[in-house]
Amino acid sequence: MLDWFATHGRDLPWRRTRDPYAILVSEVMLQQTQVERVVPRYLDWLERWPTAASLAAASPADVIRAWQGLGYNRRGLNLHRAAQHIAARGWPTDLTELPGVGPYTAAAVGSFALGADVLPVDTNVRRVQERTGYAFSPRAGQALMDLGATVCLARIPRCASCPLAAGCPSRGRRYEPLRKQSPFEGSFRQRRARTLRLVVAAERPLAELDAAAVESLARDGLVQVEADVVALPREATIRA
Ligand code: SF4
Repeated sequence: MLDWFATHGRDLPWRRTRDPYAILVSEVMLQQTQVERVVPRYLDWLERWPTAASLAAASPADVIRAWQGLGYNRRGLNLHRAAQHIAARGWPTDLTELPGVGPYTAAAVGSFALGADVLPVDTNVRRVQERTGYAFSPRAGQALMDLGATVCLARIPRCASCPLAAGCPSRGRRYEPLRKQSPFEGSFRQRRARTLRLVVAAERPLAELDAAAVESLARDGLVQVEADVVALPREATIRA
């Protein structure tokens, strides 16, 4: 498995560092965005904000602007809040105390940056675990992620190219399509994204915008409404 990874593993920029802040940035971006889209955004982000302290000092409005196009904008705000926590109090022992950091992200940062003896189990890793029935050591984390992403695919796994094929009880099986995510087109999420894009471009009268979307964005701390004008938050009024 590790030999396979040495030859076939993906060369991703966050694998060239053990800086926990950089790994945290990559993991938060990767939560709901594909690897190919994350790579350039991750590089730009770290160039602009190379440390937790530099991100902590940014305005929420700048963070929201920089997050545009990655989707699920609350992640950007939570990353900002996490940076503020780290800059003020250091890294917590329990990483899930950081805003937006759940058990998987905590395990990934712990394992890839801090040497924690824990296997981060994302969708790809879980799929390989379930199909093989193997118990993998934390050392196999990144190899498993790549195997799940490029070989042990959800519907039609490429068993002929798999380093685990010899002992895998699922070898050669095909799987039903997974339930599709509800469509973005026409969704409230799309209305929120469109409304936020308009406000990122320029502050606007509330009357010109989708009121329900504004209310939802304001609840998340992504916009603020003052005297019926909607703008990006100027202060660090971010909520969890
Ligand atoms: S043999 Fe096939 S099903 Fe088993 S781990 Fe490899 S790719 Fe997945």
